Order: sequence, then C-alpha cells, then structure tokens
Amino acid sequence: MSSTDVSHIAADAAAHAQDAVASGRLNEAIEALAAFGGRSDGGVSRETLTPLDLQARRHLIERARALGCEVRVDACGNLFFRRAGQQADLPPVLTGSHIDTQPVGGKLDGAYGVIAGLEVIQALNDASVATRRPVEVVVWTNEEGARFGPGAMGSSAFAKPERLTGYRTSRDAAGVTFGAALDAALAQVGDVNSCPLGHPVHACVELHIEQGPVLEAANVPLGVVTGIQGVRWFSVKILGAAAHAGTTPMEVRRDAMRAAMALANRLYACADAARAQGLRMTLGRWRVDPNSINTIAGDVEFTVDARCVDEAVLAGFEASLRDAVTNLDASDGYAAQVQSLFARGMTRFPPEMAALIERGCARAAANAGEQAPIRLTSGAFHDAMYVADVCPTAMIFVPSRAGISHNAAEYTEPRQLYLGAKALAYAVTELACR
Ligand SMILES: [Zn+2]
Repeated sequence: MSSTDVSHIAADAAAHAQDAVASGRLNEAIEALAAFGGRSDGGVSRETLTPLDLQARRHLIERARALGCEVRVDACGNLFFRRAGQQADLPPVLTGSHIDTQPVGGKLDGAYGVIAGLEVIQALNDASVATRRPVEVVVWTNEEGARFGPGAMGSSAFAKPERLTGYRTSRDAAGVTFGAALDAALAQVGDVNSCPLGHPVHACVELHIEQGPVLEAANVPLGVVTGIQGVRWFSVKILGAAAHAGTTPMEVRRDAMRAAMALANRLYACADAARAQGLRMTLGRWRVDPNSINTIAGDVEFTVDARCVDEAVLAGFEASLRDAVTNLDASDGYAAQVQSLFARGMTRFPPEMAALIERGCARAAANAGEQAPIRLTSGAFHDAMYVADVCPTAMIFVPSRAGISHNAAEYTEPRQLYLGAKALAYAVTELACR
C-alpha cells in the first residue's frame, strides 16, 4: 500500500469513529464518575488514592472491561485500558488524563479526558473500526499534587521511571507516604495485570478543559493546544531579627516583613513590566516567624511562581529576582536568599500533531455548524507535558465557563464536551491507523 492509501484509510476510519461518538452516553458517563466524591454543590472531592479514588478506579476498570479492553496497571498506579489493534506488537496510541481532584474540584478537570477516551473506544466498537495499532486510555495517578507533592507524579514517572523512588517518600498532611498509599491501591487491583512503568507508546493526545478564558472569549468550542508555558519556582527567605513591637524604635529594627514587602513590591513591578510579554507571577505561600501580633517578624519566607511562553522573559525575570534579593541583602543589613525549587521550559507539541488535531477539530466543528478551532497555549500543567518527553504528543481544549476550575462551579456545555470527544476520536483513530 502506498502512503497515500494509508493516509486515506486512516482519515476514513477517523471520520467513522468521530461520527459514532454519542453525546448522551458521554454525559451519563461523566455523571457516573462524578458520583464518586460528588458534593451537593455540584463539585467533586476525590483526592488521589483515597478510598473514593480507589472506588472510582474500580468503576472505570469494570467499564473498560465491558468495552472489551484489557486492563493493566504500572508501578505508579497508572491504569491502562487497551483496545487491541490489528498488529498487537505495535506501540499503542495513548489518550486519557487523570481522575484525582483538588480538595474541592469539578466533574471535568481530568475526568473528562478519561471518560472521553472510553467514549472513543465505544465509538470505535460501534463503528466496527479496526485500527492497526492498539488504542490505550490511561488514568494517570496524582496529577493534582494536592494530597502528595509534586503533581503529575504518574505521567512524570512514566516518562522517567527513576522518579518514582523519590515520589514514594512524599507525605500527605496526615503523614501517610505516597508509597504506602500506592501499595494499598495496587493491592486492591490484584485482578489487574501489571505492565512495566514507561512502556513504549506511539503518540499521545490528551483532551482537557481549558481552565482559562480564551476559548469562551473567542466563542469557539475547540482549541488546538500548541504547547504549555514554561515555569520557574523559587523560595525566597529573609532573615531579620525578632524583637518587641512596643519597645524597639523603628530606626533600629531589622524587620524581615518590611524587607519582604519591599522585595514583593519590586517583584510585582518586574512582573507588570513584562506583562505584555505574557509573564505571570504569583507569590503564593508565605511563612512568617514568629507570626505574632506584637513581635517584629524575624524570618519571612515566600514562594514565587513565574510562568511564560517565552523562555527569555522567564530568564529575565529570574535575573531581576536574584538581583533584587542581592541588593536587599547588601543595602539593608538583612540576610536574604533565593532558592530555585523547580523549573521546566516551554513544552512545544510537534507541528504535525497540531495539524492532525486541527483537522479533527475542524471537521467536528464544521459538521455541527460551529466556529473553526483556534490555536492557543496552556497556562496550566498537564500530564501531556511529561508524556511529550517520550512521544509525539498533543492536546485538545474545550471551553471553561468564566475560565473557572479547581472549583465546584467548573462547567463546560454538553455540546462542547461532545465536540471535544469527537475531535479526540478523530485524532486517536487516525494515529492508530498509521
Ligand atoms: Zn487536570
């Protein structure tokens, strides 16, 4: 067969799969999963590897088996639901996302990508499409990082298995280690075959809610994600001297809070100056010691989260941060230090993957009389960020009402969810037929 024949067959199968996606079934499946940890305000509380999460995993295992999938689990608890391909030994096309939530999240963050993946398998079954490669739907463990840090443990350990050893010692607020929670979770899936951590995959497509305002503002139901912005995390520590608030004259104080505020204002000014280049900065976590109403702060520590699609802008911000900390140290008699906690450059998805996603989105949108997709970058981390290290990867976004997520009010219209699943079906099927 010529390559033209192969691409014609692949596009034909992709169209069939896309047309077999069913909206009602998709929504019912989203609601059924949301029942595990569902709240009266419409939100979901299902943190990773909790009893509710394990019940939700079991629910999905049964669903996948009912669709004819082989279920496997790896050493990080990632679940894989595999629909066989005509050539069983070829690396599969991967889709899926995560089902853990923030302490209070919505029904869609992560869960939508997993449920839509199973809907794609159902659509392939209904349309009797046989793909050359297997299709695998993955449920990544601990994407949110709310119970155990860091986030995206499952996908990052998949991309680099040696990371798992360090992750196992991470503790939740109750002192439980990730390793202990993971072992308990694995013990509950004794009927599931295990697979090696980081098995080869051909390509990966993750479908997710945008969690931002771009698609809604553009009135477009589908977005082609071209990449994920880079991020740098820092911890800044300022040492002054704790002293009595009533008796210490202002001019002799070494007030760590005053120094921290001055530094914070300088950082906000740097961030504002780079706003046009897309820099986003957050001083999210503060620790003040002794944190007393009538004692001058002797020790203040805060975190800096800086993100941008432009590495040069991030590098410039880091230089300004280090400069500001050094100058504070020199001029005001404080001991200040900055520590780098985490850095990850911009993730760029391959252009051919974006082109494929765009074809799938455009066809779904056109057939529904909707606006053509637009291209955008992701402001949030996703599992796809790490999977992109090991295979060609891409993402599809659907709109988030008012850009809200990590909140019970998270919402996407059913017709948009439907179109997202259709776009996913197209992309996954075409990849699996190549
Ligand atoms: Zn997510």
